[in-house]
Amino acid sequence: MRKRIFWNIFLSSLIAALLLGGVILLAQYRSFETLMFSELSTECMYVESGLSSASDEQAYLKDLPSSDRVTLIAADGTVLFDSSSNASTLKNHADRPEIIAAKATGEGTSSRFSETQLIKNFYYARLLPDGRILRIADSQKSVLGMLGSLLPTMLVILFAIVVISALFARYAAKTIVQPINALDLENPLGNASYDELAPLLTGMERQRREIVSRMTALSEKQREFTAVTENMREGFILLDAADRMIAINGSAAQTFGAEPAHVIGSHVLMLNRSVGLQQALEQSKKNGSGQATLIRGASTYQVLASQVTDNLSPAGTVILILDISDRVAAEQMRREFSANVSHELKTPLTSILGYAEIMRDGVAKAEDTRRFAGKIYSEAAQLMSLIEDIIRLSQLDEKTSLPEMTTVNLKEICEDVCLRLQPQAEKAGVSVNVNCSPANVRGIPKILEEIVQNLVDNAIKYNTSNGSVGVTLKLVGNRVELSVSDTGIGIPEEHLSRVFERFYRVDRSRNKQIGGTGLGLSIVKHSAETLGATVQLQSKLGIGTTVTISFPSVD
Ligand code: ADP
Repeated sequence: MRKRIFWNIFLSSLIAALLLGGVILLAQYRSFETLMFSELSTECMYVESGLSSASDEQAYLKDLPSSDRVTLIAADGTVLFDSSSNASTLKNHADRPEIIAAKATGEGTSSRFSETQLIKNFYYARLLPDGRILRIADSQKSVLGMLGSLLPTMLVILFAIVVISALFARYAAKTIVQPINALDLENPLGNASYDELAPLLTGMERQRREIVSRMTALSEKQREFTAVTENMREGFILLDAADRMIAINGSAAQTFGAEPAHVIGSHVLMLNRSVGLQQALEQSKKNGSGQATLIRGASTYQVLASQVTDNLSPAGTVILILDISDRVAAEQMRREFSANVSHELKTPLTSILGYAEIMRDGVAKAEDTRRFAGKIYSEAAQLMSLIEDIIRLSQLDEKTSLPEMTTVNLKEICEDVCLRLQPQAEKAGVSVNVNCSPANVRGIPKILEEIVQNLVDNAIKYNTSNGSVGVTLKLVGNRVELSVSDTGIGIPEEHLSRVFERFYRVDRSRNKQIGGTGLGLSIVKHSAETLGATVQLQSKLGIGTTVTISFPSVD
């Protein structure tokens, strides 16, 4: 713009200066012509007065000191004398404009241009009283000739004009552009600039406001998007059409051990090259969506990939990564549980069938029949307690069929259970000591009873003869603590973490004699969690075991 203004002003000033120079030259030339004719007229007057008193006209005219051309012409146009050439060689001058004019009006002027000499001749003719015509001629270089002689001066003037025009144009361009350059585009209406710019600045202000409002809306949307994706527990990755990452949330970045800022813009396979991810991606490109399983360390993930289209052409891919470790573990547990249940049910049933078959076929001796019936009875009782435990666990799993929680006197429950198990303890040669402070907890009486029953039952079962069981109930801070300890066989350290698993038994052959189902402790743990209590187990092989349940206090 500055250049354009410069050239416009520069050329305009140059053209204006040249036109002005031309006009001045022309005007000067015109005044020069007028002056020339008036000088010729004066000279003609002098020559005429000299001619009238001269005795020898030809000699007089010849000796004239003037450098101008003097011609005497007869009334018929015949040249009588010419100071610059032989009069007899010259053609008749009757047709010359100045001669015609002089004959008609008494005087005549004319000028003619000689293209060959670049010279202009000026003629002044006067009618003498005797009818002859006296003509004085002078020549002057033409305009072009004059210009030629003036050329050096003109070039100097032209150079000066060019320099001055350039300087002026530069200054003017700078002055015009400066307020435009100084415009504050952040605040268009705050500029005190040219009035002509007002519509432009108003338009800019309108656009600026629109841009600001759109940017605000966009960043608000971006914030919402980030807030939503960042708060998702699922991993979220957004890819462009070339599978480069546009967005990745914290959960996905954590899953793949990446830093979001470092991976944005790179190909998704740079994040993870697992077959699962590639499969999900390829499937989604083929069918619109795809899924696969991805295993990282101890965790299992489900990868869901969906294509995003824009006017039917692929615009990118959304990848969701769901941590399904718990689901997989639960499924695994359920599978194991079903297998265990079948196995556990089958064992007593096989025994029952065996004894029943012998009795049915009459193979058993009369004295053995009673013993076999007793075996069938104890196997059936074991089967029954197993089924009861399974039912109890599934009730705890379901949660729906559980009665409402109430305030329960736990001391009473502990004492009742211990009383009930007294015969069993005596049979095993174990003493049971109950030391309970009065304590109420929030819970379901039946479930609390089962907890105490299972713990005391285990403490008796896995004890040694002459051993003891201690049941204590006390308030610790704002919690109620129930602990059942024994001086029994204890649990080897490597089994400690697993005894709460369903059907887990430390010593299967020994347990078979004792008659456990392997579900007691898992029912205890599950029940305690249902009531909001925590379970702790400490055990030393050959020394004894203590299980502590800590209940939240009743408000
Ligand atoms: P079970 O019905 O077989 O007793 P539990 O779930 O109650 O099943 O216990 C799981 C296993 O933990 C038992 O088989 C036993 O080996 C061990 N156990 C439980 N309580 C005790 C304890 N007080 N002393 C020693 N071992 C125990």
